[in-house]
Amino acid sequence: MTDNQEIPSRSEERKAERHKQRQQKVKATVDAKIAAAQEEKGILLVLTGNGKGKSTSGFGTVARSVGHGKKAAVVQFIKGNWDCGERTLLEGAGVEFHVMGTGFTWETQDRDKDTQAAKTAWEAAEKLLQDERIDCVMLDELTYMVSYHYLDVERVIEALKNRPKMQHVIVTGRACHRAIIELADTVSEVLPIKHAFDHGIKAQPGFDY
Ligand code: ATP
Ligand code: MG
Repeated sequence: MTDNQEIPSRSEERKAERHKQRQQKVKATVDAKIAAAQEEKGILLVLTGNGKGKSTSGFGTVARSVGHGKKAAVVQFIKGNWDCGERTLLEGAGVEFHVMGTGFTWETQDRDKDTQAAKTAWEAAEKLLQDERIDCVMLDELTYMVSYHYLDVERVIEALKNRPKMQHVIVTGRACHRAIIELADTVSEVLPIKHAFDHGIKAQPGFDY
């Protein structure tokens, strides 16, 4: 071994010292933020955007909730042609599911039927949003019900505002209405950088649904 490898050079020592100082500053900032964030309340989380990962992220949070022994429920506002894998798993873990009884809007092409199905699913959602025993409610693909005018945004906002104080709610779907985003505590937008489907790869069970 050469001397160079055994003894760190002065510039490496200085680098290590600068790294340590930067990390100490980061730690001080993070510690101050942790100390300041003391409020506990139910979070309204919106997962929106055109990229893949909104529903899976929502189901991940539901799984987290169940893992802590909490009670969760899911309302799915769009039912695809495929059975969703998370439903099988989470129903087995005691999560209540309500699935809107129609397919994607561009498949049913029946506005009255879709509106009625959306209203029925929303009634189930409203019941959950009044139930103190439910710790976490996921409203999967709710955004479309508002953007297609199947549901009034005011009615949605009112139910979200009046829910039990400690209840968490997750809303997923593209193009979320501004009023829901404004009311939310946490909003994440998933951006598509690439999607396999655009390269001719079909949706696969156990990965896409
Ligand atoms: P996931 O359920 O995988 O988390 P998502 O909820 O973000 O996806 P949705 O808009 O609900 O996405 O679409 C559901 C289905 O469409 C999934 O099978 C997903 O793989 C697929 N998908 C999501 N984003 C895209 C995209 N940008 N292009 C094509 N297909 C997509
Ligand atoms: Mg989705």
